[in-house]
Parts: sequence; C-alpha cells; structure tokens
Amino acid sequence: NAPVEEREFQAETRQLLDLMVHSVYSNKDSFLRELVSNASDALDKVRLAAFQDKDLEVDTSDLHITIERDVENRRLTIRDNGIGMSREDVVGLIGTLARSGTAELRAKLAEAKDAAASADLIGQFGIGFYSTFMVADTVTLVTRKAGESEGTRWRSSGEGTYTIEAVEDAPQGTSVTLDLKPVDTDDHLYDYVSESKIRELVKRYSDFIAWPIRMDVERTERVEAVETESGDGDDDAEPTEKTVVETQTLNSMKALWARPKDEVDAEEYTQFYRHVSHAWDEPLETIALRAEGTFEYQALLFIPSQAPFDLFMRERSHGIHLYVKRVFIMDDCEELIPEYLRFVKGVVDAADLSLNVSREILQQDRQIRAIRRRLTKKVLSTIKDIRTERPDDYTTLWNQFGRAIKEGLIADTDNRDAILGISAFESTHDPETATSLEDYVARMKPNQTEIYYITGESRSAMENSPHMEAFRARGIEVLLLGDPVDEVWTGNVPDFDGKPLRSIAKGEVDLDDDEGKTQEEKDAAEKERAEKEEQFSDLTTWLTETLSDNVSQTRLSTRLIDSPACLVGDTFSFSPQLEKLYRASGQ
Ligand code: ADP
Ligand code: MG
Repeated sequence: NAPVEEREFQAETRQLLDLMVHSVYSNKDSFLRELVSNASDALDKVRLAAFQDKDLEVDTSDLHITIERDVENRRLTIRDNGIGMSREDVVGLIGTLARSGTAELRAKLAEAKDAAASADLIGQFGIGFYSTFMVADTVTLVTRKAGESEGTRWRSSGEGTYTIEAVEDAPQGTSVTLDLKPVDTDDHLYDYVSESKIRELVKRYSDFIAWPIRMDVERTERVEAVETESGDGDDDAEPTEKTVVETQTLNSMKALWARPKDEVDAEEYTQFYRHVSHAWDEPLETIALRAEGTFEYQALLFIPSQAPFDLFMRERSHGIHLYVKRVFIMDDCEELIPEYLRFVKGVVDAADLSLNVSREILQQDRQIRAIRRRLTKKVLSTIKDIRTERPDDYTTLWNQFGRAIKEGLIADTDNRDAILGISAFESTHDPETATSLEDYVARMKPNQTEIYYITGESRSAMENSPHMEAFRARGIEVLLLGDPVDEVWTGNVPDFDGKPLRSIAKGEVDLDDDEGKTQEEKDAAEKERAEKEEQFSDLTTWLTETLSDNVSQTRLSTRLIDSPACLVGDTFSFSPQLEKLYRASGQ
C-alpha cells in the first residue's frame, strides 16, 4: 500500500482556507463554475497535447465532464477525462495555492476590517479551486496525468493539512469529490446534490462550455402491463411505474462567439468572460466581431472593469485565447493584441489557421497581423464610444487601464492619434476631473500655440514647482503628468492636433506677453532685457563657473514669480524622473 503523506499548508494558505471554510461570501454557488471551468481547461489541454504529440498515450475519443450525485451521502463529484495532474502538479497547483493573484489577495485580506470586507475581496479576486471549501467539509481530488501510469489522491478538510498519496487505478483526468456541508438555507447553502439545483447552476454559469457536461438523472416511466401466458388469469393488470436512469447533457455547448450578439444575454457574456479571464468581476464592455471573406474569423472581446493584479508585472498574462474552428489552441496569445491592450480578454476563433500553429508561425502570419490590427482599432474606437456615451464607465476604465494604454503612445505610432484621443490627463484646470486633449485645446488662450505639461512624482510636487509660477500667473493651463510612462511618451509624441506638446520644465518656453503691444513697446522690452542681462552678467557668469559640475548655463528668466531660481532641463535632455526610471530598469 502506498504511504499516505500528510503535509501542512503554508501559513498564508491556511489563512485563506480558513476564510473559505468560514466564508460569509454569499455566492457559494460559484464553486461549481470554478470546478467545471478547470475541467474544461483540462479537456482543452489534453486535446491539444494529443494533437501535438501523436505518441502520447491518451484517449481523446469522448472528452467530457461528468457530475455525479450521491444524494444519500451528500456527496458531489465533478469528473473530467482531461490532461490530469502529476503529483508535483498537485502539490504545486493545489497544495500551495500558487494561483496567480493570491499574493495580492492575501495582502488585501490582511487589511480587511471585517468578515464582510473579506467576502467582498473574495468576490473580486476569486479563489478558483479553493472555493470548494465554501460548501464542502472534505475535498478529495484524484487525478492522473495523461501519459503517466500512476495517479495521485489529495484530500483536505481545509484546516491546516492535506494528505497526498499515490493511487494505482486512477482513470485519466481528474475527479473532485465534495463531501458537502449540511444544508443550511439561512446561509444560502442550497442542497447541491439536488438535480434541479445542479441543472440550474450549469445552465446559468457554464452553458457555453464547449465540452458536454453530463449527469445521470432519474426519470419515472409508465410501463403498460404486459400479459403473460403463465399469468394467473388477471387480464386487467394495472400499468406500473419504473424508474429509469438516463444520462443527459446539461449544457448547450454553443460557442458564444459564434452566436449573433442580440441572441446572447448579458449574463451569458458575463459568465463566459469569467471563464476565459479567470476573473470574477463584471466586464465593462463586450465586443463581438466577425470577419468574412479571405480571412474568416470571429472574435469576442471583453474590457474588464477591474485591472488584474499583474498588469504591470513582468510575468503578466495576456488575455486572448486563440481557437481554430472551435478547437482551443492557446491562451495568452500575445500576437493577437498589442502589449498595451493586454488587459483585454476574450477569444479569437480563426477559420483558416492550421491546428498545428506555433507561436513562431503566429508571429509571421499575415492573417494574425491583420486580425491584430483590426482588434486594436476596434478596442480603441470602443473606448472612444464609452467615453462619449458612458462617462462614469470611461473614468473607471481609465483609472484601471490608463497607465497601460499610454504605453501605446510609445509603441504604436500608427494609432497614436486614436490613443491620444482616448487619453485623459490631470491638469491645472480642474483638480477633480482629468481632461481630454481635445478639451484642453478648446480652452487654450487665444495666442497660445502649444500644449503645456509638466511631469513629476505627485500632483502637489508639480503644482508647487517653480516652473508653474509664470503659467499660474498668466492663467495658462498646464497638464500634470504623474505616471512614470508619461516621461517616456512625451518624448516621443511631438504634437496633438497640430499643437506641439511642450514641457514647461525644459528649454526656453516663450510665453508671449507681447500680444497687443506696439513694435515700439516690444523693442523697449527687448532693450530692457538686454540691459538686465548685461547688468547681471557678472553674477550669471560666476554662477555658471561655480556650479559648472552641475549646470551647463545660468540665465535670467521671466518665468519665475515668487522663487528666486529654478533648474531647467535642455529641451532634449532627460528629466530627473526619466533618469530615475531608466536607472530603475537597469538601462
Ligand atoms: P486557475 O484555474 O485560475 O488557474 P484554480 O485554483 O481554479 O486556478 O486551479 C489551479 C490550477 O490547478 C489550474 O491552473 C490547473 O493547472 C490545475 N487544475 C485544477 N483543476 C484541474 C483539473 N480538473 N484538471 C487539470 N488541472 C487542474
Ligand atoms: Mg480555475
């Protein structure tokens, strides 16, 4: 007999599990969606693995998900014959809660004030497999990885430890068995072994799953009495009822992206979004696209309402899954959407690609590039529409993803105008709301030709910068750009709508106060300036020499009102923030 090994969860994992076990998160139903979603992913993977490796010993003839109910013992099993997991996989994926996002969730949970706040966080982050502990006293997982002979059993009650052991006769794939907690309607804990409940949950959360989700259901059938020759002469036998067990497929399996948008309701889209993105939030927008003709494809994209925790991490994920004629090929398909739109989730189903397509091929593929161009334009124009039609949603979107979108100002020169058009910037005009460049331009002074901005680490640092004085005194609006990425794109983008973008902290900013003056007055002002320069030349020369290690030139300025002096960069030099940024990234 294989030894049963007992292991402890890490302290942080235990904390999370404890929260699950005593969860007050009201949407306990979602455990089933999570298990079905994992099973579906596992089936996608095994089909692809079998296709790519003809020697892999797997049976892919009838890939499906089964839900088994044991009413008497209040036990529910979700089974798939997918890719399965090795022992290491189980320890790594299930045992340690390595799931992306949990680190951040844990940090936030530590700050959460009460149970309700914690429940809220679970709703936002999702906890995947661990959601089973909301409804089960004990969870048992049995799995065997495709191509391997030995299986693994993992079991836990979510309280500090789990056991793991080898099993000889595990079928290919994974089964998760839940010993359900007692029914408690006050706590929204429904009877999850009830046929109608399972039916309802599958329909609501998992109808679009591309694999059959099967369940045995009992049906009573009327049986007409049959006359038998050896009968006792009772010719009028009553019809009897007998119970037949029938296996039914609970989901429609219709690919959502292949259905016309007006036939799919918002709830279905939301559930599909949660499945593809492994997120629990609501999508802010759903975009359905289809192209016919030479390159045939369908796309179903979502703009989330919440940024993933890894949006700015090196190991971040992309959100688009690639299918070829309904067959899952890969997730995280970076070739389908530019880096700066990596928060967009969804599916592209292309008709004319080979199932064998690799990342290397994708990078060269003309069709993929055409799809990427179209998706990019579509996402940008959708954001533009959201801005005009639903300003509050736009604000949410920009707060969540603006910093990523602005990277496109550097990377995607083709769409630069469109990206500038959907961007919002803080400005001195209104501390409460960010402005579009369009609105800035509309507010420009009659003789103002340039769009002024300043970069810095915080709004107050920028507002209190000596460079601001002259602009404040003249009532000229200045954009306050506080994101690190602002340092970079402002160096790449020369203008908007023909108006040059101009840093007020660099070079000589020519604030034209001469408007409306006669030539004589202008000459007089120029003369006065020249005289002042002459008068102070000893000082400026001395300053330049004394500070020669740090500054290249000292000059008189009209841009200061209250401050005696300020540092100004060359028009083409790095600003202090940019220098910091480059240093931080090791360049
Ligand atoms: P997520 O699905 O978001 O990655 P989960 O907690 O739901 O997070 O699952 C963790 C990991 O465990 C999955 O990424 C997958 O690698 C593995 N896993 C879970 N269920 C199955 C399954 N039925 N078959 C194969 N692997 C699974
Ligand atoms: Mg999952």
